Amino acid sequence: MITGSEELLAAKKHIIEVARELHEVGLLVRTWGNISQRVDEKSFIITPSGIKYEDLTPDMIVKVNIDDLSHEGDVTPSSEKAVHAVCYKARKNVEFIVHTHQVYASCAGTLGLKKISTYFDDEDVIIPVAPYALPGTKKLADNVLATLKKYPDSNALIMANHGTVCLGRNSKEAVFEAEKLEVSCHNFLVDVCKTDMNHGVEVGYNSHLENGEIVYDIKDTPQRVKDIHSAIYAKRPDVKYIVHNKSEAVMMVSRRANHMRPLLDDFAQLIGYSIRVPSNEHGKDGQNYHNIKRNVNAIFSLNDGAYCVGKDEEDAMAVAIVLDKGCIAHTAVMRHGEGHYLSLWECYLMNRHYRKSYGKLADKVR
Ligand SMILES: [Zn+2]
Repeated sequence: MITGSEELLAAKKHIIEVARELHEVGLLVRTWGNISQRVDEKSFIITPSGIKYEDLTPDMIVKVNIDDLSHEGDVTPSSEKAVHAVCYKARKNVEFIVHTHQVYASCAGTLGLKKISTYFDDEDVIIPVAPYALPGTKKLADNVLATLKKYPDSNALIMANHGTVCLGRNSKEAVFEAEKLEVSCHNFLVDVCKTDMNHGVEVGYNSHLENGEIVYDIKDTPQRVKDIHSAIYAKRPDVKYIVHNKSEAVMMVSRRANHMRPLLDDFAQLIGYSIRVPSNEHGKDGQNYHNIKRNVNAIFSLNDGAYCVGKDEEDAMAVAIVLDKGCIAHTAVMRHGEGHYLSLWECYLMNRHYRKSYGKLADKVR
């Protein structure tokens, strides 16, 4: 319970500290995910929608009414506020909530399982998975509520094909739940799916446009790579920056897969619905086949990773990060033998909603 304006300001500052802490360890990235703290029976404070954790100030932390989700002030609260509200309602002892898109837990949540049975140190762990619903919807909050009720002892759950919700009596507990969840899910991916992959961006040949000219980061970029960059800029006038991601997972997909469908919300929103991977099996000459389309922001190159595109470096890097996670999920699903893919209709609705609501491509994901 928070009483008085001084205590409220301190709580807002604390949320920002926790956000930065989670950002530092990689559990929160860019503007994705959100954090909240209970104020009293009727309200909580939460991080805003679409602002980077580095840029947060206490006045941007918004007070939201638990019952009707109305908020104070001009700053728009996170679009996932309904999920936070149902958690505070269902669990009276919960004071702090962290929602992340952390890599391994999100990937484990694409396998179509209702719960993940794994371990943390020597302890057996059951992680509930709330069924999929579109982000920001009442249905998603209902699914989270039903899952919390079904697993009264769990303080960390996965929202299928999206991310996590971690609860605590204070920030320390909630953050610990998020960390424990990530380690437990990594254990699961390694043991059950035989998927042990580092997450990140391994930069290959990047380039950007400067006064209409292509400038390569590496001077002796090979001609075959320059041809791909030129083709991308020619077909996509909106693209000004290309990040070549050669991470372990992206390389794996570029070697083995023919096609990627979205397994995660952020993939559908930032990268596209249907990504072709050039392959000598179905193409005449894999090296020359490239899937440059208006709504596809990752262009795979056979056995050479993928070119991630954006209107600036930040956008292209966001695509590269989300693509890497999507490739880990793709590999896990292949090895597990099944997964739950997002439908085309869900992807369509999500993109339409986010294109309307948010201008900047890379910050569309909540
Ligand atoms: Zn989210």
